[in-house]
Amino acid sequence: MLEYDRISGLIPTGVWIDGRSEPATTTFEVRNPATGELLTEVADGTAADALRALDSACRVQSAWAATAPRERSAILRRAWEILIDRTEEIALLMTLEMGKTLAEARGEVAYGGEFLRWFSEEAVRIGGRYTDSPAGTGRILVTQRPVGPVLAITPWNFPLAMGSRKIGPALAAGCTVIVKPAEDTPLTMLALAQIFAEAGLPEGVLSVIPGSDASAITAPLLADPRLRKVTFTGSTRVGKLLLKQAADTVLRTSMELGGNAPFIVFEDADLEQALAGAMAAKMRNGGEACTAANRIYVHNSIREEFASRLAEKIGALRVGPGHEPGVDTGPLINERQRNSVAALVEDAVAAGAVVRTGGKAIDGPGWFFQPTVLDEVPRTARMHREEIFGPVAAIYGFDSEEDVVAAANDTEYGLAAYFYTRDLDRALRVSSALEAGMVGVNRGVISDPAAPFGGVKQSGLGSEGGSEGIHEYLDTKYVALTR
Ligand code: ADP
Repeated sequence: MLEYDRISGLIPTGVWIDGRSEPATTTFEVRNPATGELLTEVADGTAADALRALDSACRVQSAWAATAPRERSAILRRAWEILIDRTEEIALLMTLEMGKTLAEARGEVAYGGEFLRWFSEEAVRIGGRYTDSPAGTGRILVTQRPVGPVLAITPWNFPLAMGSRKIGPALAAGCTVIVKPAEDTPLTMLALAQIFAEAGLPEGVLSVIPGSDASAITAPLLADPRLRKVTFTGSTRVGKLLLKQAADTVLRTSMELGGNAPFIVFEDADLEQALAGAMAAKMRNGGEACTAANRIYVHNSIREEFASRLAEKIGALRVGPGHEPGVDTGPLINERQRNSVAALVEDAVAAGAVVRTGGKAIDGPGWFFQPTVLDEVPRTARMHREEIFGPVAAIYGFDSEEDVVAAANDTEYGLAAYFYTRDLDRALRVSSALEAGMVGVNRGVISDPAAPFGGVKQSGLGSEGGSEGIHEYLDTKYVALTR
């Protein structure tokens, strides 16, 4: 029996509109990247489906916005409880459709679920402002209103959390939401829609339209003036396309785009801590994270030791299907992604990088790549500028703080940055100098539902999570009153 058969009863496979799964007319395949096995076929959503979802969203938008914040909060809280009760099933589902290990998938249920709990708590704390005007002639009343129907486009690397991080605040704010999940991993969002229905979310407030042709679903929505917001997590390339389309209807936008995170180990770092941090920042999710340490800069006085110890740790990782016991790291999402990692490694090696461990794709079935450490990577290698998105640690040497900070900032991206030092002055100086939306100081994992996640430069616009996250889904309204 396929592992998937154990959980298939919890996962709708049609387009999800008006609180139910509609039988599909045409379908596309979802396969396990670790084995190539077919998991199931999913409805191939169309433009007509997308517009019907928008009709539903518009029909219920004002009623949802008028629902008591306490009631919206209670629904989010119930959805969190059901999700956590189903941790094992949803974790297995993510492992099967995306490839991450079960341990990481369980972690994602906890992390992704937390956005529902956090925003259930924020739903009842949407503030406003009231003041007398300075001239004494009027009063100023400021309120926060839900933006309106939202389109959420999500990627495959965190099939649950990248959706819940948008759905949680949008529902808390009083917005309706249409989700277009990634074609490689549509099932987790469909399972979440089912959970929301069980939690009592009114019909029409949340739709999920899976599909093999993303823009066939999203373009008609973006062109429709009834849609009021697009929130996207994915590549900078697609983000730019969406921003151009959003211009035509002056849509509110939130963009979580690519990264090229520097991870700097200064000569005074605690080496044990830095190695543990590098393992987390590089190998979490098999390196398929926009916050992944893409460029590991190590001071030349400790580089040799750091590189050999990191190679020992990374070389010892057991690669295999994520649901098998004892596996530390799973496959890449698909053939295209594995080939892209292989090409970046080949390019770096041709430029002079030294392979400390790994370096090659592993024969199938499944899209595996050996966990890899490259040392002495020249800064001219493509991977110095481009996101690797795979289990490849690239180590660069440096001699001075000034040089490494300049190198770290020499990128169009600005999502996450990490560094290790025991010098407090340096910690403050470097964290302020790094051009990044998020900085980890002596920490390799920075994501936290209570903190604002977001990038600067071409890594994006806006923040998700924290008390900031809900404002992405609220418009400010000023009412002028006479005295
Ligand atoms: P990746 O390269 O990591 O797959 P993408 O940016 O291509 O990331 O995909 C992220 C999300 O954007 C997915 O849901 C995908 O279907 C969607 N997407 C891809 N291309 C487009 C497009 N042209 N218009 C709208 N959505 C798109």
